[in-house]
Amino acid sequence: MSVLVTGGAGYIGSHTCVELLNSGIDVVIVDNFCNCKKSSIDRIKALTNKAFTYYECDIRDYDGMDEIFKKESIDSVIHFAGLKAVGESVYKPLEYFDNNINGTLVLLDVMRNNGCKKIVFSSSATVYGMNNISPLTEDMKVGGVTNPYGRTKLMIEEIMQDLYVSDKEWSICLLRYFNPIGAHKSGTMGEDPNGIPNNLMPYITQVAIGKLDHLGVYGDDYDTHDGTGVRDYIHVVDLALGHVKAVEKVASGTGLNIYNLGTGKGYSVLDVVKAFEKASGVKIKYEILDRRPGDIATCYSDPSKALKELGWKAERDIEEMCEDSWRWQSQNPNGYPD
Ligand code: NAD
Ligand code: UDP
Repeated sequence: MSVLVTGGAGYIGSHTCVELLNSGIDVVIVDNFCNCKKSSIDRIKALTNKAFTYYECDIRDYDGMDEIFKKESIDSVIHFAGLKAVGESVYKPLEYFDNNINGTLVLLDVMRNNGCKKIVFSSSATVYGMNNISPLTEDMKVGGVTNPYGRTKLMIEEIMQDLYVSDKEWSICLLRYFNPIGAHKSGTMGEDPNGIPNNLMPYITQVAIGKLDHLGVYGDDYDTHDGTGVRDYIHVVDLALGHVKAVEKVASGTGLNIYNLGTGKGYSVLDVVKAFEKASGVKIKYEILDRRPGDIATCYSDPSKALKELGWKAERDIEEMCEDSWRWQSQNPNGYPD
């Protein structure tokens, strides 16, 4: 089986490529390197010792993508490529709609015209919006999303649902990720955000290595056990293994299926700070700030559908997530080399 991985040089994509290659699945990577370094490709090679092809191409480039499909024999696609910074999407909505929505439309068109109708898509728990009560299940009403990034995920889910209604030959998995953190056990692959991180774990690790002075905790007056926001953190390698199961699922027939990829457990911001301090032995200075607009108190998954239908379950706990994040950050203080 050969899988085209869009955005395969990025954080989740690179970890997924390692697990696909280790499972004996052939990989073809397409990335325009707008949010990653090319050296992540070398790390995938070094970790797996397996040959694979990569193309520098924008998924919005129909001819470029068509050429790749004509050259390679692609059975299915895992579609990670997209812009993902919630805050940035608020002041660059057109760029987000163009890259994420237009990019997906071009990709689906190229796939259809080349007879490839199997796709796994990176959606997000953000599609559940502000009003559903955790644990979140796949049958809950989606919507009420508060930013352009989240709307691109919701719209792409709807586009893929409409596509399946129009043509039952498609086989589609929509994966709703909760909060991916952690890194490859080797310490050679991990998250490498541009500039000041928006997300909690890379912010904590950069405080730990002294790049940032202290963590700002966005609110301690939520209705949670310690007042800080609760999320379902999932190890990126568990997430990657979920994609191996999902790609096997899309290969096995037709249909459209939606799965939460989470652990089912919620940890507060201060729980994560404590777990990180224990794993790293480094004290994290923090200050309580106002709530961040658009944040909700609590968000965690019910992951039982993925267990039942994909045979997948997250295995790595919060301690391991923190240890692996720290190993990556401390061994690569400046992220990937240029
Ligand atoms: P990432 O930025 O590390 O990876 C995305 C990759 O896509 C990057 O390597 C980037 O260069 C590439 N890319 C972007 N636009 C492209 C284009 N037009 N053509 C070709 N390549 C392009 O992000 P990630 O954290 O690995 O996330 C992967 C996917 O998962 C994204 O779609 C993201 O929205 C989704 N997701 C991520 C999270 C998270 O917290 N990391 C949570 C939910 C969903
Ligand atoms: N958070 C925080 N300080 C930060 C970044 C995040 O307190 O610098 C909190 C945020 O309010 C939320 C949790 O950490 O409760 C996870 O935030 P993140 O941005 O990582 O993911 P989200 O769930 O918002 O997508």
